[in-house]
Amino acid sequence: MPAAPPAPASCPLAGRLAAVHERIAAATRQAGRAPGSVRLLAVSKTFDADQVRAAHACGQVAFGENYAQEALAKVNALADLRERLEWHFIGPLQSNKTRGVAERFDWVQSVERLSIAQRLDRQRSPTLPRLNVCIQVNIDAEASKSGVAPEQVPELAEQITRLPRLALRGLMALPSPHAVDARDAPRRLRALFDALNASGFALDTLSCGMSGDLEAAILEGATMVRIGTAIFGARETSQ
Ligand SMILES: *Cc1c(COP(=O)(O)O)cnc(C)c1O
Repeated sequence: MPAAPPAPASCPLAGRLAAVHERIAAATRQAGRAPGSVRLLAVSKTFDADQVRAAHACGQVAFGENYAQEALAKVNALADLRERLEWHFIGPLQSNKTRGVAERFDWVQSVERLSIAQRLDRQRSPTLPRLNVCIQVNIDAEASKSGVAPEQVPELAEQITRLPRLALRGLMALPSPHAVDARDAPRRLRALFDALNASGFALDTLSCGMSGDLEAAILEGATMVRIGTAIFGARETSQ
């Protein structure tokens, strides 16, 4: 990664965020897509609440977290900013951890089974807006990765749309970093997304692309990229 330009002291992540926004804008232009059609989700897992605060000070609104306990502690620590932040859960979610996520998050992008969706639906307070969800797709059929097989997505999508407290927004995937063609998996994800919409769903979110492959994802139609390392730096542990 190129060195970030100097940032004002009040906003130490400004240079890195600006560089990420520039990458997104360049790929969006290259794809011939409308400026602003790709949202940036800042993945703050393993980084503390002060780092989230710093990114927010540079204008970042949406943050992604992978580990329920860590995430909920951070949401609490940033309670003063709650109305101005949008929290996305993007990690594997166990059934005993759904309640806090249903109560405190705005999105869950990592839904991969009906039982978890049903729990989130039951636990989402009627006083809150519906919980936005994406189905996580195991697009490369990797044994090590979460997500449902592409052929199982339509049935799960159908079931989720019947849950009143959830709003099915789209699909999420983490393509294999070892692909020969980085555009292949995002292209297949996009085809699945288009097929669902052609069959009557109204999905608007294709969440794909990370620090290393955001350009490929945007060229294939991603509407949201999830960026950790390029904003916050390398994570110490590979949890
Ligand atoms: C960690 C993580 C990211 C961010 O990855 P980087 O390579 O650090 O940008 C994106 N999506 C998910 C689901 C993650 O777990």
